[in-house]
Amino acid sequence: MSEKPDLRSLSLEETSAFVTGQLGLPKYRAEQLWRWVHDKGVSTFDDMTNLSKPLREQLADNVRLETLRVDQVQTSKDGTRKLRLLTHDDRAIESVLIPDGDKTTQCISSQVGCALDCKFCATAKLGLGRHLSPGEIVDQVYRAKALLADVAPDRRITNIVYMGMGEPLHNYDNVLASLRLLTHELGANLSYRRITVSTVGLVPKIAKLGEESPRPNLAISLNATTDEVRDQIMPINRKFNLAKLLDTLREFPLEKRRRITFEYVMLAGVNDSAADAKRLTRLLEGIPCKVNLIPWNPHEGAPYERPSPEAIEAFQNEVKRHGLPAYLRTPRGDDIDAACGQLAARPQASEHIQLGKKPRDRSVGA
Ligand code: SAH
Repeated sequence: MSEKPDLRSLSLEETSAFVTGQLGLPKYRAEQLWRWVHDKGVSTFDDMTNLSKPLREQLADNVRLETLRVDQVQTSKDGTRKLRLLTHDDRAIESVLIPDGDKTTQCISSQVGCALDCKFCATAKLGLGRHLSPGEIVDQVYRAKALLADVAPDRRITNIVYMGMGEPLHNYDNVLASLRLLTHELGANLSYRRITVSTVGLVPKIAKLGEESPRPNLAISLNATTDEVRDQIMPINRKFNLAKLLDTLREFPLEKRRRITFEYVMLAGVNDSAADAKRLTRLLEGIPCKVNLIPWNPHEGAPYERPSPEAIEAFQNEVKRHGLPAYLRTPRGDDIDAACGQLAARPQASEHIQLGKKPRDRSVGA
């Protein structure tokens, strides 16, 4: 017997094909069903109140509807919220909600753990658990929407960044499918222009992404200006070195006024010299781009240090002096280990957790 399909991961077209073909139902049922999952974010068939009981039972017998369980929510002093979410097979992933003025950016995970082994990143220590399905990727957004409706009803998720756990382009097909789901007008209806996919630089996949249409914004975790240093801190550089990466990015098609974002984690004494700043601007010449400087966020056992504020400022000024826009990304949520590179899905002692209005409600989305 074939396994029941996972409703959350199916496109509207796939849902239609299944609902009309396998279940013998009229097509409009597919749209109803799809909206319940991707617009309303329900987590059970019983929540689908415009479907009759026999129909809900028929669905429950034939398709899976598994939503992530909200295991913990931590709130930072700066308003950032970190969600620890559990998959149906009890894998933990994390997602972060970052309020910024009127905007709220959600940082989502694409894998349980990560295979890339960047030396400065906490997620790397976990190794790769598994890829997330399209449904698991988008459901992070639906669980966060439900949480916000509860704790901050005036806020809406405006931007999505694939900068949580995992390497999105290593899970290419599922990430692409998740983008198609999140931007669907009958679902969350987010705009590609407000979605950014970040990568360590998987060159063939970047080229492939350039052929997709529509496509999200692209961010590259550069983090070094020589192959010597990058080889050490990001082993993927031994396969796709700086020259290969930058050549591919020069070919990457950008719409008008779009730019590539380069992330640059600042590590004291490793990549923060004036010579690095100068090399950085030279490397990126001819690529419409901006640089986000991310002061390294500490996590246990990592052999790095964050440069002093003066050193960071000097680096930023040097980059700007050469005509490259460089922004300093102040750490958000670092008091709850929610900042860049700190996601490791460790459960926290319960006294540190501030849940929303409904304490211990594990199915906030219901
Ligand atoms: N694997 C993808 C998606 C993760 S994005 C990628 O690397 O692009 C996470 C970002 O946080 C990356 O830019 C990474 O370089 C950065 N980062 C990782 N560990 C960090 C740390 N400890 N402090 C600050 N930034 C870190």
